[in-house]
Amino acid sequence: MTRNLFGGGEPSAYKAGGAALNAGTLLLSREDFTRSVLVRDGGRCVCCDQAATAAHHIIERVLFHDGGYYLDNGASVCDEHHMDAEMTLLSVEQLRTLAGIRTVVVPAHMSPDEVVDKWGNPILKDGRRIRGELFHTEQVQKILGRAGLLDVFVRYFKYPRTSHFAGSPGGSADDKRLKSTTALQGTRVIVSEKMDGENSTLYDDYVHARSIDGRYHPSRARIKQFHSIIRQDIPADWRVCMENLTAVHSIRYEGLPSLFIGLSIWDDRNVCLPWDETVEYFDLMGIAPARVLYDGVFDEDLITEISEQIVEEGGEGTVTRSAGAIPYAHFHELVGKYVRQGHVLTDSHWMEGDFDENGTYDWDPEDPVDWSMMSRSDIHGAAFGPPSS
Ligand SMILES: [Zn+2]
Repeated sequence: MTRNLFGGGEPSAYKAGGAALNAGTLLLSREDFTRSVLVRDGGRCVCCDQAATAAHHIIERVLFHDGGYYLDNGASVCDEHHMDAEMTLLSVEQLRTLAGIRTVVVPAHMSPDEVVDKWGNPILKDGRRIRGELFHTEQVQKILGRAGLLDVFVRYFKYPRTSHFAGSPGGSADDKRLKSTTALQGTRVIVSEKMDGENSTLYDDYVHARSIDGRYHPSRARIKQFHSIIRQDIPADWRVCMENLTAVHSIRYEGLPSLFIGLSIWDDRNVCLPWDETVEYFDLMGIAPARVLYDGVFDEDLITEISEQIVEEGGEGTVTRSAGAIPYAHFHELVGKYVRQGHVLTDSHWMEGDFDENGTYDWDPEDPVDWSMMSRSDIHGAAFGPPSS
């Protein structure tokens, strides 16, 4: 949708009562963007008050799927400060403040609360940065190299957010939804039980929860111990993603094969390995894989049926992934989840207070009880209770 800000105020820009909507968050055409940013800033660079030569995109427009031409995503700059902004020597927050912008405009798949640089690379509290989706592009490499900033990047990756399937009752209006299932149609998928723990990522030299610099919790100390045992098996620049089930969150588990369940493995090209290969690696490492409920051609109705059964039995829901390789940038269309209604998502309820542990049975990696694989007929026949050893 494009609205001409200079067209004399079309009715669409006003609420019924006559109160103006925040014009800064309306999508503009490229020309209107440039014009309205310069008009707002009086034609002056927001940093030094010299004549402005450009309307700078505070967050890179390529990250937006709609062009990103929002007044609140623009700042007027001179040549020198334009370069500083592109090199991220001027921060996104500094530019917003200098331009008097109060509304944070970010692409739909990014969170307005997350601190990022212009190129969408998340910034940690200590100033180090995480590689975002544009990090490896030639343009970003060149400009950050020129700024001397390539070595502030850590080698670690944030686990991507999993989108909800359209029929997932747990998805709120704010949650990411799978726009379509086209990428999964006709392909082999793996449906596994979604476990209510903490997503954790293990490298050869580091382990972190979803937040790379998260605070201390006894359950995080436990996965660090586990990490010290398996780290020598993880190739350099690869990562193993697991669910840390040490602490009880909203669901209490008994009879788990392990407190640490394997979800996926990512290689040094930032590609999630195909499921069969993943299971082979888990076998070699002695890691219990996620419990597979269905392995076959994508079938949304069947996935809903399986998920409803899991929820009925007190589970959180299911995760469906392509059985093939999943590049980082395609995660949002090749992985989806179904979560029960009202599932508590915040950390505060289990991070505070006494540490309550889930229960396991004695899992022997040499002779594991195969809780991971159930055929489609099992799903319709057998009970879903945890396996007995
Ligand atoms: Zn300037």
